[in-house]
Amino acid sequence: MVEQEVDYSAVIEILEDILGDYKMHNDYKGQISFDCPVCSQEIKGLDHGDGKGNLEINYKYNVFKCWVCSESHETHGSIYKLIKKFGNPRQLKKYELLKPDETEERANRVYKKVKLPKEFISFKDASAGLKMTPQYKQAYNYIKNRNITDMMLQMYNIGFCYSGEYENRIIIPSYDENKYLNYFVARSYLTKTKLKYKNPEAQKETIIFNEHLIKWDEPIYIVEGAFDSIFLPNAVPMLGKFMSDNLFNKLYDNAKKITIILDPDAWNDAERLYHKINCGKLMGKVWIAKLEGDKDIADLQGNLDLITIKQLD
Ligand SMILES: [Zn+2]
Repeated sequence: MVEQEVDYSAVIEILEDILGDYKMHNDYKGQISFDCPVCSQEIKGLDHGDGKGNLEINYKYNVFKCWVCSESHETHGSIYKLIKKFGNPRQLKKYELLKPDETEERANRVYKKVKLPKEFISFKDASAGLKMTPQYKQAYNYIKNRNITDMMLQMYNIGFCYSGEYENRIIIPSYDENKYLNYFVARSYLTKTKLKYKNPEAQKETIIFNEHLIKWDEPIYIVEGAFDSIFLPNAVPMLGKFMSDNLFNKLYDNAKKITIILDPDAWNDAERLYHKINCGKLMGKVWIAKLEGDKDIADLQGNLDLITIKQLD
């Protein structure tokens, strides 16, 4: 996914080949704009660009959109779709070689808006009556066993489902910077389960979990999972062992101090990540911590004195 190196200059070359000279380009953000062929040719009947540069492309996020005609003429979507629509087969072939992961199916995939399951019960809103039920007690016991405090339940709006698609799962919702729900993780609280996590389908690479709680200019902790992130102040989970370009860009623009704490079994991934982000403006601002044995972040109970935080050569 994000780990692969993409030759963006070759992507830009194809785009210029199809759309002509670009109008604006921010190579750090991966944002580039061109005259929209639909606006220029189809709508205005010009045989050249209209000079407006309304077609904006972000080649890092792999999306394009015309600010004028996207609604009326479907001029939005993936770069694959853009090249297929406006380019020739040779250009499409060239693009496919650069980005073999981009397929027709992926290009057409539309992500549904994430909603909390209708069976979701927030612990903080549970009624006295519900708290008497065995279903509630089972879920709440799990919370206590994981050292999750009532304050965390409140702060993260943690809840559970005892029926439905997410039956017997603890839910941690994620809200974006404007406090709109953008994702959730659902972890089973049964001891025997086939599927520990069952998360909704979403464009994970664009999500920063609970971004509304992140203070980008204060010390930030990078952790693996949502269940790790609630135990540390200002922690961002990567929702895996790899960092998305989106998260990297946010850190690069804003972070003053970053500490990476991954699970003990992922020390190599942590080191790799350290070297990947300890560069440019972030040079010297990145730290790394090793958890001993099979300890996880919850075992620290918020006490960061229990771990050694260091910088690597
Ligand atoms: Zn247009």
